Amino acid sequence: MKYIDEFYDRKICVNLAEEIAKKSLGTELTFMEVCGTHTMSIFRNGIKDLLPENISVLSGPGCPVCVTPNRTIDKAIAIARLNEVCVCSFGDMMRVPGSSSTLAQERGRGADVKVVYSATDAVGIAERNPDKKVVFLGIGFETTTPTVASSIKDSALKGLKNYFVLPAAKLIPPAIKAILNSGKTKIDGFLLPGHVSVIIGRKPYEFIAEDYGIPCAIAGFEPTDILYAILRLVEQINNGSPAVENCYRRSVKEDGNKLAKDMMNEVFEVCDSEWRGLGVIPSSGLKIEKKYRAFDALHNFKMDVEETKENPDCLCGDVLRGVASPLDCALFGGVCTPENPAGPCMVSSEGTCAAYYKYADVRR
Ligand code: SF4
Repeated sequence: MKYIDEFYDRKICVNLAEEIAKKSLGTELTFMEVCGTHTMSIFRNGIKDLLPENISVLSGPGCPVCVTPNRTIDKAIAIARLNEVCVCSFGDMMRVPGSSSTLAQERGRGADVKVVYSATDAVGIAERNPDKKVVFLGIGFETTTPTVASSIKDSALKGLKNYFVLPAAKLIPPAIKAILNSGKTKIDGFLLPGHVSVIIGRKPYEFIAEDYGIPCAIAGFEPTDILYAILRLVEQINNGSPAVENCYRRSVKEDGNKLAKDMMNEVFEVCDSEWRGLGVIPSSGLKIEKKYRAFDALHNFKMDVEETKENPDCLCGDVLRGVASPLDCALFGGVCTPENPAGPCMVSSEGTCAAYYKYADVRR
């Protein structure tokens, strides 16, 4: 298919990989991909096997399901246990373990928990069920948050009184900063997330190159996109000129999507937020603006949330910081599998543990 097949062309991929090998010869380099879709694409397309031994690619905190902490899941479960409430969630969140239960288990016990594809679907459920309070579990990054903002604005315009959002959205640039400030992971360059960048543009990442001297490349999701972005990272290192390069120009504009950003800024305001594995990161989350408080589940439901407990044997937190591989986890592949996940990184279709499990013949 013209304009699509080229992105998968084996010859182009091999040429790019050879160029990377030639230009990085004699240097050990570690790059972090900050997006779950990149993680999956890298594994699915065998990119780790194409790259030379001296280049390592680490997964970062780019899977929204994985970084959502137990506390948020516990709140959603507490709401699901209330009478005349319907909790709506993306499918991936259903089996993520909270402190003592999952949304899927709550549904099995009789709670009204529905899988939806978007916040708009949840608004539709609220419209069709005026006797129910419908609560959308609003996880996600800058990519999905404008749609959640739109669902709230839409509900306000329609005068809906039974639609609520449990706000749990997170912002990617502060998470990258937190990883860099932790100093625990050696990172020579970032493959920046294409989807998030479609919304926020290129500029919000400039601090990475300017303040930390680390090269960055915004990458698309096809194999040639990813290999080309890695090549540009290597070239930036060789030239000693770290920058934020947009290698996904067919989708990402310099300033992102103004309409989506305006929508997000009208409905949400920036706040500190807790991330699994990274703790509370300043200014890394979004809460609902006062003006839209009538739609804020945190202000409209009394939640009986138990004390948060994490599975002490699950290394998801370390995997998300790039300091451990799923293969370091004693539960990987035995106790923890996609059928019986012990942590979010095995549940999510974008989770690093799920990627390792599915594409087992991988090196660390
Ligand atoms: S293998 Fe399972 S338990 Fe281990 S880190 Fe991954 S999700 Fe957590």
